[in-house]
Amino acid sequence: MPSERPIEGLATGISSRQRLCALRSELALLHEPWPLLVGILGLLILLVPVVAWLTVRWSESHAYQRLAAQGRERLTLYGEMLHSELAKSRNIPVVLSSDRQVIELLADPEAAKGEGRIAALDRRLQELNAELGASAIYVLDSTGLTLAASNWAEGSGSFVGQRFAFRPYFLAAVHGHPGSYFALGMTSNQPGHYNAMPVSKGGGVLGAVVVKTSMDRLERGWSGGAERVFVTDRFGIVFITNIPAWRFHSLNPLDAESMRSLKASRQYGNERLPPLGLVAGDPLTSIDGHAYVMVSQPLADGQGWTLHVLMQIGDARARARDLGLLAVAGVGLTVLVVYFFIHRARMRRRYTRELEERVLERTAALMEKQDELVQAAKLAALGQMSAGMAHEINQPLAAIRSYADNARTLIDLGRNELVRENLGEIADLTERMARMTGQLKQFARKSPGSAEPVAVTAVIDGVLALMASRLRSDGVELEWLPPGGALKVWGEEVRLQQVLVNLLRNALDAMREQVERRLTIGVATDDRQVHVMVRDNGPGIASEVLPRLFEPFFTTKQAGDGLGLGLSISEGIVRDLGGQLVAGNHPGGGAVFTITLSRAEAA
Ligand code: ADP
Repeated sequence: MPSERPIEGLATGISSRQRLCALRSELALLHEPWPLLVGILGLLILLVPVVAWLTVRWSESHAYQRLAAQGRERLTLYGEMLHSELAKSRNIPVVLSSDRQVIELLADPEAAKGEGRIAALDRRLQELNAELGASAIYVLDSTGLTLAASNWAEGSGSFVGQRFAFRPYFLAAVHGHPGSYFALGMTSNQPGHYNAMPVSKGGGVLGAVVVKTSMDRLERGWSGGAERVFVTDRFGIVFITNIPAWRFHSLNPLDAESMRSLKASRQYGNERLPPLGLVAGDPLTSIDGHAYVMVSQPLADGQGWTLHVLMQIGDARARARDLGLLAVAGVGLTVLVVYFFIHRARMRRRYTRELEERVLERTAALMEKQDELVQAAKLAALGQMSAGMAHEINQPLAAIRSYADNARTLIDLGRNELVRENLGEIADLTERMARMTGQLKQFARKSPGSAEPVAVTAVIDGVLALMASRLRSDGVELEWLPPGGALKVWGEEVRLQQVLVNLLRNALDAMREQVERRLTIGVATDDRQVHVMVRDNGPGIASEVLPRLFEPFFTTKQAGDGLGLGLSISEGIVRDLGGQLVAGNHPGGGAVFTITLSRAEAA
């Protein structure tokens, strides 16, 4: 069995050209970087502001939440400080309201005055006040008149003889309730927190003991922190704060009703109570050119007080903006990186396509060249064949001449029978010559016709007739067993002859060095196909030659001997005819070429 290898031929000219067209239109698209650039720019224009805005918002709200959480912690701390400060001043009047000296004074002020008991109480209150660090401790009678006070010795600053009947803490006390109140001192003009306790005897209220506590110490304590802290009353007026400039300012402009009520109680004296412009409950506020997060908490003191802490936003906004810029840079960078990769991929594809296009263009050019060369090779072969043909024709020509000469002599002798025979021989010989020249004509024809049923034996016989002189001169032993019957394949006679001439010439070339040269031509068939085998007894095909056998211009022959086109053309022809040309080595030695074609009629 011959070892066989499927044939790798060139891509056909048509498909190369079609691919070339497709490639060109693809390349036209690739040459336009604008759609990609415009797309990337559009994406950037869309994405950048959105991402920047989202990042800034997220970062800001994150910072505000953190500040608010810190603020709430501070609020608890400051609230406790305030609570303990107020608790201290609340205990003093509670103790004093049951003091015997105070009760006796209020029960009978005239008698007490006479006995010098008021002076004694004054001194005692003075000592107590200094000891407790309060602003003032004083005793009011049931009409609100001050009978004894810790500041009795301060001349015009003394509360003694002053009447505080209008103060709400006093009004609460005379009604038997503890009174608590923050106000600006009428005499001292100093703010303070007033705590009053009713002094009762036998079910009736005799008067009240009042302690005024300054919030200075508390405010100083608050000043240590970085935050702005303040307490507002039920009108929204700032009265305890670590920002002195904000004291006696209202959060919002006060309405007429509140103003009237404040005037009546003289709680804040003649203060104008201008608005600060802060909105209680608004988490973000800005004042004095700074932005703050405000946290507020109502105090459980029953007086409508609210404690506020302002946490300065400071560089949180700047940080959010920086983060936004960073996000924008990130998005920009990502988009650019993506663009870079897409662009690089496109460039690479474009480069590959261009390369491919160049290869295809060259292939197409090569194929055109090949067509020309095929024709040139055919003409060269024609030249060779003409030489053989001249040799072949010389013999019949000589025979014709001698028949003609003989005929002339025979006419003279009146041997007409023999003359007729001679003329018959001459006619046969010219017939044979016409066949030969006819084949030459066919071989030189370029354009391929269309496939038709072709008799295999006739084609092979025709080729053998063409090659007869060479076969003879090379002393080749021919083994050719034509199959029985008229076996037909789909093909073109002339082109099949071209293929077989090529195979035979190669076989003869291959056997040049052999002492005995044997050429075997065989035909095998099955239902659908016909196989024509051409085997020689040359050296066979070397393994490194086999894969390249059908490449155009591949030859192992010396320059001038071979063009390397024969097999490539033959393979192309057989493929064009819908068949296959396979090369291999015969196990018994030599090369075998097999042409397989479709059977023209079923067995
Ligand atoms: P060329 O005959 O011009 O060299 P071909 O395409 O016909 O071109 O053949 C290509 C090559 O294939 C030859 O050079 C030769 O090496 C090899 N070849 C073809 N036929 C045979 C064969 N019968 N035996 C050995 N080698 C062959």
